[in-house]
Amino acid sequence: MVKAPVVIVGAGLGGIRLAENLRNGGYAGALTLVGEEQHPPYDRPPLSKTVLTGDDDRVDLKPSEFFGEHDIELRTGSRVVAVDPTAHTVTVEGDGATEQVAYGTLVLATGLVARQFPGTEGVGGVHVIRTVEDALALREEAGSATRAAVIGAGFIGCEVAASLHKLDVPVTLIEPTPAPLSGPLGATIGEMVTRLHVDAGVDLRVGVGVDEVVVEDGRAVGVVLSDGARVDANLVVVGIGGYPDLDYLEGSGIEIADRSVGGGVACDGVGRTSADDVYALGDCANWHDADGRGHRVEHWTHTVDAAALVAAQLLGHPIPHQTVPYFWSDQYGLKFQMLGSPRSDDEVHLVDDDGRKFLAYYSREGLLTGVVGAGRVGKLMKARQFLVTPTPVATLLEG
Ligand SMILES: Cc1cc2nc3c(=O)[nH]c(=O)nc-3n(C[C@H](O)[C@H](O)[C@H](O)COP(=O)(O)OP(=O)(O)OC[C@H]3O[C@@H](n4cnc5c(N)ncnc54)[C@H](O)[C@@H]3O)c2cc1C
Repeated sequence: MVKAPVVIVGAGLGGIRLAENLRNGGYAGALTLVGEEQHPPYDRPPLSKTVLTGDDDRVDLKPSEFFGEHDIELRTGSRVVAVDPTAHTVTVEGDGATEQVAYGTLVLATGLVARQFPGTEGVGGVHVIRTVEDALALREEAGSATRAAVIGAGFIGCEVAASLHKLDVPVTLIEPTPAPLSGPLGATIGEMVTRLHVDAGVDLRVGVGVDEVVVEDGRAVGVVLSDGARVDANLVVVGIGGYPDLDYLEGSGIEIADRSVGGGVACDGVGRTSADDVYALGDCANWHDADGRGHRVEHWTHTVDAAALVAAQLLGHPIPHQTVPYFWSDQYGLKFQMLGSPRSDDEVHLVDDDGRKFLAYYSREGLLTGVVGAGRVGKLMKARQFLVTPTPVATLLEG
């Protein structure tokens, strides 16, 4: 049950959703949201899409009056640097001061930091994209880019490539696996995504990594690939993922999950950590699924669902953990979507392909595990019901 005061570390999507759910569920005690960034909570998906292209800069998750109306103390520009579960306090640094803040219930929602390409920190023309400042800085430099080299064709790398292409920046997209997204989704979808990029005119290099970012006078001028080729580019975007920065938990005794299961704050199936009254959710948290296996998920909907589950747990009316995992990505004017938990080694049934838009079912041992599509929103969402309980994939293939 929730114990006042509630302190939430991380004023991002998970933090604000949890605060809102607690207030809407009747929690009336003190509630503080501590965020390292200078901004009130904002949404990250638009950063690599509409913010980067300049189509729409709106990212705020709540209007400014929301915090007063919901009696939420929002402390921006404040970083939690230590947690003491015995004393039930966190140490907060901000505005040149350090302060101990007491909690009854503590929730960790500190997200990820973007992984840098080794040796490029501070090099001009090299960018990652995690914060609003990152997106605006990248957009500004895109204006004078002769070519962009995007390192990594995961979801964010693919989106950045598509957005830069929309800005008329020639793009080389570099991916060490045989095709974009083939790591998580397998070869068939990898081919479909390859087609999207190649048809758009992106110079896609697969099966090669980047050995070196070439720097002259403190600025990137190109990259050297693992096959020895050099790509001249005065803009380099590093899209090689992120990791939870949990230094602030050092010495707290709070258990951290093993890297083999994704790392992050180790939690049970409802976000409880190894310390009493401490919960974790969102990108930084490693929750156990029904089989007792830990996993860390970096998806928007997962964070929103987790905030609802933790709030319900804290308010004393737990809700079942029944959500179907969902992820979307926007590339070249197409909505790319994934439902369920497809794996790259699942059997893939491509049921619809018009040369650009497509839909595929994934199955394991005959049972549907996921649905992946591009530009097939209605059909994909219709399949959601079949992922709630185990369903033979044949039911959909014959239907
Ligand atoms: C560019 C981009 C595009 C994305 N696009 C999609 C998409 O299309 N679809 C999708 O499903 N998902 C997408 N995601 C993922 C989605 O945005 C995340 O899953 C979601 O933001 C996770 O929320 P969170 O609250 O866990 O973390 P965040 O939203 O990252 O918030 C964490 C906050 O905690 C703060 N913090 C960290 N450490 C401390 C500390 N010690 N003290 C105080 N504050 C701290 C951070 O500064 C940050 O503000 C995208 C992510 C990015 C970066």
